[in-house]
Amino acid sequence: MITLTSYGAALEVTGSKHLLEVGGSRILIDCGLFQGRRKESRAKNEEQPFDPASLTACINTHGHLDHCGAYPLLVKRGYRGLIWATGATADVAQLVMADSARIQVADARFLEWHIGKNPRDRREALPPLYDEEDSAQAAGLFRPVAYRQPVEVAPGVTATFLEAGHILGSAVVRLDVVDGDTRRTIVFTGDLGRRNTPILRDPDPAPDADWLVCESTYGNRLHDDLAFAQEELAQVVRETVAKGGRVVVPAFAIGRTQELVWHLHQLNESGRIPPVPVFVDSPMATSATAIFTKHTECYDEETVRRFLDRGESPFGFAALKFTASAEDSKKLNDIRDPCIVIASSGMCEAGRILHHLVRDVGDPRNTILVVGFMAENTLGRALADRRPEVKIFGELHRLEARVKILNAFSAHADRNEIGEWVAPMDQARLQGVLLVHGEPAAQAALGDHLRGLGVRRVESLAAGKGVPL
Ligand SMILES: [Zn+2]
Repeated sequence: MITLTSYGAALEVTGSKHLLEVGGSRILIDCGLFQGRRKESRAKNEEQPFDPASLTACINTHGHLDHCGAYPLLVKRGYRGLIWATGATADVAQLVMADSARIQVADARFLEWHIGKNPRDRREALPPLYDEEDSAQAAGLFRPVAYRQPVEVAPGVTATFLEAGHILGSAVVRLDVVDGDTRRTIVFTGDLGRRNTPILRDPDPAPDADWLVCESTYGNRLHDDLAFAQEELAQVVRETVAKGGRVVVPAFAIGRTQELVWHLHQLNESGRIPPVPVFVDSPMATSATAIFTKHTECYDEETVRRFLDRGESPFGFAALKFTASAEDSKKLNDIRDPCIVIASSGMCEAGRILHHLVRDVGDPRNTILVVGFMAENTLGRALADRRPEVKIFGELHRLEARVKILNAFSAHADRNEIGEWVAPMDQARLQGVLLVHGEPAAQAALGDHLRGLGVRRVESLAAGKGVPL
């Protein structure tokens, strides 16, 4: 009996957690943090519908927080097995988990202090979900595997990590499963990237599968062409600079930030944007860039040819400055001239971006540039929806800045791109596509699209409901 049960990212986008049971083995694919409303997130993240100690192995598709951020909690609650991932993902996940632990510990301390000073505040002071020791322990369980190198992760279960083209180290994971006389190939897209993005290779095909567990983040959207998006980015910068404002970009510290830097590098070099300073204001950026620099095995041919072969870095140019210390970050507040500030977190749930938003949302000269997916009930979504007022650090601020959404910089394939990746699969063999990691409307649209391309069966995975494969 082979069963798949989703415990996170079922009909929603964050908190990926999928449990595959084969004979006596239990394999967890991804273990991400749920992000959204504070109370709801807390409850969902604390909920552990299975005993971590009962798991045989874990597999991590990539190092985004919503795919790896709950491993420390798993370890804290008794998991001692291995976490299989590509080498770059192991490094990225280590950084992401440690950062998440630091933020949680700091948040918990702040809330405790705040409630102590404001007895009428009804919020409950809760301890962090996990701390830095837990995250270090989780990092120690990662086992790096090369792309396209099959590895047995449990008796009768072989995993192969294929390129997903989503962030550095990201993988589409193919599981070849044997259970008595039954053989199944189950492919998990993790998060599926796009073709022709800078630095990363295009997603590998996965032609032969019996089942596909497919993400659907942008299942109801079509992204603009990347070249068009680059011109739009240039235009946003030019217009904002002409008004004397600043461009504030909330971005994941890993992946999106490096990609934006790559585009700004090009625009700067070709004179398509004025030579204003670009600040990457993220304590993680230096470490993240070091990981990018280390894992050249993940680069596409163009990046190798244009940068590595010439001994240059794709992640540095004269106008670009990394602000590592809190002091340097504060100094950015005093800059009156136009500039570009890239800071995390990507969905504006924590991190230095909040300080920039407090400073900048009320000024119509500024532009808030949305370049990534904003989950429901996050500050990022409120900005993307252009609400008249947004809540930052518990206080309402009028949103006067311009908000510009550039989806083409998305690290996720759109509806047609997912279709182009799924259509060449052997449809006679493919028994079904199970949709995860998407809101209901996106899944409905993607389902129609895939059926139109000849996929026999498309279903949304419901949380906690096992599907026999
Ligand atoms: Zn991702």
